[in-house]
Amino acid sequence: MTFPIHRPRRLRRSEALRGFVRETRLSTEGLVYPMFACPGKGVRKEVSSMPGVYQQSPDQIVEECREVAGLGVPAVLLFGLPEHKDETGSEASDPNAAVQRSIEAIRKAKLDLLVITDVCLCEYTSHGHCGVLDAAGAVQNDPSIALLADAALSHARAGADIVAPSDMMDGRVAAIREKLDANGFQDIAIMSYAAKYCSGFYGPFREAAESAPQFGDRRSYQMDPANAREALREVALDLEEGADIIMVKPALPYLDVIQRVRERFDVPVAAYNVSAEFSMVKAAAQKGWIDEQRITLEILTGIQRAGASIILTYHAKDAARWLKHC
Ligand SMILES: [Zn+2]
Repeated sequence: MTFPIHRPRRLRRSEALRGFVRETRLSTEGLVYPMFACPGKGVRKEVSSMPGVYQQSPDQIVEECREVAGLGVPAVLLFGLPEHKDETGSEASDPNAAVQRSIEAIRKAKLDLLVITDVCLCEYTSHGHCGVLDAAGAVQNDPSIALLADAALSHARAGADIVAPSDMMDGRVAAIREKLDANGFQDIAIMSYAAKYCSGFYGPFREAAESAPQFGDRRSYQMDPANAREALREVALDLEEGADIIMVKPALPYLDVIQRVRERFDVPVAAYNVSAEFSMVKAAAQKGWIDEQRITLEILTGIQRAGASIILTYHAKDAARWLKHC
């Protein structure tokens, strides 16, 4: 046979044909835009390693949320910076802290926006770890989850739609579920950072959230980057404990994990396209080395193709603008 019968190129001849047979249709519907809330009024301070990303006071958060909603991005994820840090991260559950006040302000503005809150202690503790420490400086699991549950409850009280624990303590999803239910918040969903890896890709975020550990690292609670099967165990445990949505973080170096989780579990899967994944694109684009729009949309398509229907990304606003025009 000189000429092939099968010619896959037949379906690539025009954009109409390519669009017709496209397997992954990237849209704004599954995007989440992460934001950093800080105390004060009129504060808007750009994070130097993350162009276009700001630490903002609640009044400014609302203004950007208006823009986010206007672009058709359905959700934001709020991180909080405290006024004061202490050993137990007590401001994490303070009803007057920046995140809680931001949620209330967004609610008051009646924006068509899902508000997801990050639940962790590392931004709030003086030592920068995601839980409380024992005398030897080790992160204690069980005392930490009680504090995380308190923080989640304060977010729910302020008006959050979804709480998202990111600490990687064992049993925290169950503790949060129990606490929310006991206080009448049985309809508030939990999106758990189920497979969160101990990653170098969080570097720029730690500047944004001012959450770098003051000693040691997070290897004793976040996952080893070499492990994929363990991620399935983590996800299974979180689902047993009552997680509604599960997340893999970071995204790009863990596309295989996203795919395995997607294939094994029939629940919504989220992936966090983290700070360094964003900053690398921005830096290369600023140098004129890459086509930012093309590369960003390709990255987001890749994450969705791997199996994530929800993508948390600092590119969300840019992507929404580009998707409107392509
Ligand atoms: Zn943390």
